[in-house]
Amino acid sequence: MLPCPTGKHSPYLTHHSCRTCTSSADWAAMMRTSLSTSSQNASTVSTTTTPTPDCPPDIDSLGRQTWTLLHTISATYPPSASSQQQSDMRSFLSLFSKIYPCWVCAEDFQQWMSRRGNEPRVEGREGLGKWMCEAHNEVNRKLGKEEFNCGRWEERWRTGWKDGRCDQ
Ligand SMILES: Cc1cc2nc3c(=O)[nH]c(=O)nc-3n(C[C@H](O)[C@H](O)[C@H](O)COP(=O)(O)OP(=O)(O)OC[C@H]3O[C@@H](n4cnc5c(N)ncnc54)[C@H](O)[C@@H]3O)c2cc1C
Repeated sequence: MLPCPTGKHSPYLTHHSCRTCTSSADWAAMMRTSLSTSSQNASTVSTTTTPTPDCPPDIDSLGRQTWTLLHTISATYPPSASSQQQSDMRSFLSLFSKIYPCWVCAEDFQQWMSRRGNEPRVEGREGLGKWMCEAHNEVNRKLGKEEFNCGRWEERWRTGWKDGRCDQ
């Protein structure tokens, strides 16, 4: 089994799933190392760091697409959720945080959610949307990225920007 660049393996995923926990650059480097170690021709491996669209996702494209799903789920959540809907959302987030295919990300997300004050706010759309934005900002901070203004999450994910550029 190839070592994951993160040095960690999921307890229940195969090494192929390392890819979802690895950037394209690290993955390509790992493949080159692996091929040269096994005396194959390393020049046959692409050195591109941009994932090809119809190949399995790396950590970044998986993350981008997952955030799209999570924020869009928040944007279409009822303004005032029934107790069943609240219970479903809690279960979804709990399961999601266990099975997200980048398990290093999943572990950190679970830990963040378990801290006092970070429990999912599932009463309605506004609370859930802001909570999701805060969760995303936690990852942004960890990665040294700019924080998103959570006062504008709805423009980004539900209504479109006030300048009308999403209405064309
Ligand atoms: C649960 C989870 C945990 C992750 N953990 C890690 C990790 O530990 N390490 C790692 O390398 N990657 C992790 N990722 C992936 C990471 O968050 C990014 O998706 C990835 O780095 C690609 O970033 P990006 O700059 O393309 O934009 P993304 O961060 O994917 O954001 C996509 C778009 O969302 C909007 N946006 C940005 N911030 C917010 C916000 N706070 N609220 C609302 N909208 C926002 C912006 O318009 C942005 O263009 C995780 C992803 C998820 C879903």
